[in-house]
Amino acid sequence: MKKKILIANRGEIALRIIRAVQELGYTAAAIYEKPDNEALHIRAADEAVCIGDGPRVDYLNINKVIAAAQKVGACAIHPGYGFLAENPAFAKACEDAGLIFIGPASEVIENLGNKVIAREIMAKANIPMVPGTSNLTAGEAGTAEAVEFGRKYGYPIMLKATSGGGGRGIRRIETEAELVESIPLARSEAQAAFNDDRVYLEKVVLTPKHVEVQIIADKWGTVLHLGTRDCSIQRRNQKLVEIAPSLIKDQKLLDTICQTAVVAARAANYTNAGTVEFLVDHEMNFYFMEINTRVQVEHTVSEMITGIDIVRTQIKLAMGKKLSFSQDDVQLRGHAIEMRINAEDPQNNFMPEGGKTVSVYRSPGGYGVRLDGFVYQGYKIPEVYDSLLVKLTVHGYSWNETVDRMRRCLHNFVIAGPKTTIPFYQNLVNDQDFQNGQFDTSYLETHEHLFEYTDQRTEVNKIARLIAEIHFRQENPYAI
Ligand code: ADP
Ligand code: ADP
Ligand code: MG
Repeated sequence: MKKKILIANRGEIALRIIRAVQELGYTAAAIYEKPDNEALHIRAADEAVCIGDGPRVDYLNINKVIAAAQKVGACAIHPGYGFLAENPAFAKACEDAGLIFIGPASEVIENLGNKVIAREIMAKANIPMVPGTSNLTAGEAGTAEAVEFGRKYGYPIMLKATSGGGGRGIRRIETEAELVESIPLARSEAQAAFNDDRVYLEKVVLTPKHVEVQIIADKWGTVLHLGTRDCSIQRRNQKLVEIAPSLIKDQKLLDTICQTAVVAARAANYTNAGTVEFLVDHEMNFYFMEINTRVQVEHTVSEMITGIDIVRTQIKLAMGKKLSFSQDDVQLRGHAIEMRINAEDPQNNFMPEGGKTVSVYRSPGGYGVRLDGFVYQGYKIPEVYDSLLVKLTVHGYSWNETVDRMRRCLHNFVIAGPKTTIPFYQNLVNDQDFQNGQFDTSYLETHEHLFEYTDQRTEVNKIARLIAEIHFRQENPYAI
């Protein structure tokens, strides 16, 4: 019997995982909610189970997902990213049901999903980090504690949800008055979003670079890193563009960051693939931020520069295989850039454009180009899921060549129907600071001209209307 793996996700990452499962000679089983019944991952998989009407509640329903795996006779579940991927109760439920969870052990997910516990583990391992508090005590005592922290370290400070993620649950606080006012608000927001109202404080690193390290670790004690990624180009603390490796010129510093990431992963008893995130300030000090216990959206850029298939490796490691190569075998070649092409309007605060139909879809190709998407011409984008349509990743020998390749691909990419982030990225690849590798997490705020463009999509729509008019005139010559 061929081994069967259930993919507990949707969208581009479901397709990414299905491909790896099928390449390994295993059977890929998909799950889907009703609003996704036109989704490509259902067709790409060898079989698919509808788990409910959704939206989102069934992809998040541990019992239903486990039941689907048992129904199809899967031996393992790959959670992808988002949904149940970092839910320790889900990993535990898999373990209890005798299913292999493709990721680290449930206790590791539990510890690292809690930013305060993660910081405690890292502090014991002497990993550098910004000063921060423990969970703030509820009520007056917590406020007093927070005020004291603010007076000691100065403003701005970050008020963060202990169980936060995905860029949510983070507030930058400028004054003591704002702090006092914000704590109860942050608590109720955190309760609603993460079912945990705990919050804590961190000193802010001013205009930092977000530098992270891809880790892979087997169950036999080997922990390797696959180099750095820079994910500084963000909106609302969420990543938009990711590159590998970091363009920081000090190679010794980058090596130290990578080695620190390996120490951090060991300290957390980490197995499988994961990401250790750091902030790097202008003096080139680096600080631990968190560990993400799953495959990341931006794993593609690390794959391009190392040649290592991270998802294939994840599956093998979860099955108990040893890493068959050493740190010295991991060679970084060239540069890679990933741009997240989202159905969003950058000119309107990145407002999602879900619910629209993709009327034209023409993707670029050629040397060094990789597409991880799931939409096709005629596909109606469900309103109820996230707005990522396709990840465009390019690889090049030099940074310049990579930027040139990205510019060419964006020019060749046509998506009509929803507004997308493509025209914004076209400005970005032409920006001098981007070309010089000069960007930190404040990049979007300090580069307003990136938002100045006329939407090509509007032009395409205009031309389409003109063509329709000409056809109508030809067929109805006497119409008024
Ligand atoms: P999430 O779990 O949502 O990914 P992170 O803790 O990784 O949250 O932070 C996400 C982003 O928020 C970072 O990439 C950075 O831009 C910003 N950020 C978080 N903490 C700090 C901090 N202490 N100083 C400056 N920026 C921060
Ligand atoms: P495979 O999946 O090819 O049977 P592994 O499980 O050992 O082999 O490797 C997982 C991933 O790491 C694959 O994408 C493979 O191409 C890559 N890889 C294997 N050996 C090496 C090596 N010596 N150096 C760099 N990458 C390697
Ligand atoms: Mg993060």
